[in-house]
Amino acid sequence: MIRGLKTVKILLDEQQLNEGVEKLAHSINQSYGSRPLTIIGIMTGSVILLADLVRKLDMPMRVGVLQTTSYHGTQRGPLTIDADMMLDVTQRDVLLIDDIFDTGHTLTAVVEKVRQLGPKSIQSAVLLRKTGQQQVAGQPDFIAFDIPDEFVVGYGLDYNDEYRNLSYIACLEPEDLAVSDQGS
Ligand code: 5GP
Ligand code: MG
Repeated sequence: MIRGLKTVKILLDEQQLNEGVEKLAHSINQSYGSRPLTIIGIMTGSVILLADLVRKLDMPMRVGVLQTTSYHGTQRGPLTIDADMMLDVTQRDVLLIDDIFDTGHTLTAVVEKVRQLGPKSIQSAVLLRKTGQQQVAGQPDFIAFDIPDEFVVGYGLDYNDEYRNLSYIACLEPEDLAVSDQGS
């Protein structure tokens, strides 16, 4: 039992995640071939996916990160993007990696920000897409799983910065949120 969680509803277990990331990597390998890539992980939610995915890719690559923040608990706050730590992307083929595509506002804003830096191309890959939640025109180029509209944690995704280390993806139930909010 995970600390603080009353019930654990596993949506994707370790094996399913591994297979999904394998397929994602296969599609990316097919698409880019041996073209060198600049991979940018959107922190912090993509940290586990980034580590697993890059080890399944075949092309020469540089790996960097940028930081976004929009959630506080399950409440959405203002979106901030901090690209100070990011690699130079000018004239590079860039692949952005994020954990989840929900409304789509985060990835859309990051694509716009990176586009202003003059890359040769930009594509994006996400682990999860929430069905029917999108409020933007674009979609990620590579998607491992479509999931129902539930708040999920694990495999990099957090609730108040906890649960990122779970090796599976679980839904946080309302009673779990109440427990976690008490900090138990
Ligand atoms: P969007 O801007 O597409 O609505 O949201 C994208 C960001 O919100 C993701 O990068 C992720 O950090 C966060 N997010 C959206 N849905 C969930 C969720 O179900 N669980 C967690 N932990 N984060 C989420
Ligand atoms: Mg995120």
